[in-house]
Amino acid sequence: MISAPERFCPTPQAEQLPAPSAGPTAKPRIAIFSLTSCEGCSLAILELEDELLAILGAVEIVNFREGMSERAWDIDIGFVDGAVSTPHDEQQIRRLREHCKTLVAIGACACLGGVNTLKNHQSEEAYRRYVYGDRARLFPTLAAQPLSAVVKVDYELPGCPMTNEEFLRFVKCMLAGRPFKLPNYAVCVECKRRGILCRYESGDICLGPVARAGCDAICPQYGTACEACRGIVSDEALAALGRNMRERYDVPLDDVVASLRLFGASQKGELP
Ligand code: SF4
Ligand code: SF4
Ligand code: SF4
Repeated sequence: MISAPERFCPTPQAEQLPAPSAGPTAKPRIAIFSLTSCEGCSLAILELEDELLAILGAVEIVNFREGMSERAWDIDIGFVDGAVSTPHDEQQIRRLREHCKTLVAIGACACLGGVNTLKNHQSEEAYRRYVYGDRARLFPTLAAQPLSAVVKVDYELPGCPMTNEEFLRFVKCMLAGRPFKLPNYAVCVECKRRGILCRYESGDICLGPVARAGCDAICPQYGTACEACRGIVSDEALAALGRNMRERYDVPLDDVVASLRLFGASQKGELP
């Protein structure tokens, strides 16, 4: 059986978001930050275009390196993409936690460690030399971790990148004071609803049975297997996947574990 992951997206949260602070505009003060990542999840916010204009009428963006030069630190809701992968990231996330009333991890890097965690399975000396050559000593590093391994995270919007729809749904819940929940079922449910031919029929290893839904099964829709960029929906689903792989498909568990490692969905990834 595959061992349970050390981290996966938390169970959906039903509590109300805290009320925004009462500033001169009484609008929630929002900030967007990046740690080690491609910053694709932050950029996805800029790509919202029309929806972003509507959001801008309802919130005040006070700190967003990708989109503005002003900086303010009285923040109601801070969105952070990227993993904690360097000592500087660790300092930064502790500082952001102090300044943000609500902290939201956006994207697989922030929620799971993401592709950054691939380095955790290699020799530190080897990958640092590969990337930085003789200058490696100038670039201190840490094992890549999700934000929640270092500070308390209030909400997670997973995915690589996070989906714009989920981000907008979160912001609307925030503005209306409604609870926000992530789907608590697997990608297979969305895939079946769309009537997509299962990737297992083509001999692929698809993590749809264990991945958290919310992406509308976009990878199988385009003919590729799910690699669980939205994390694992439950330990039970993971255990069942392990059994199915052995008994029904005769798939080597090492291959399943390798797939789980891509986005840090299972940071252990060890066979018992
Ligand atoms: S989750 Fe993906 S898109 Fe988002 S910052 Fe990480 S690598 Fe980039
Ligand atoms: S393709 Fe993947 S997500 Fe779709 S039904 Fe098959 S296993 Fe599930
Ligand atoms: S299908 Fe899987 S890998 Fe693709 S976006 Fe959805 S959760 Fe991520």
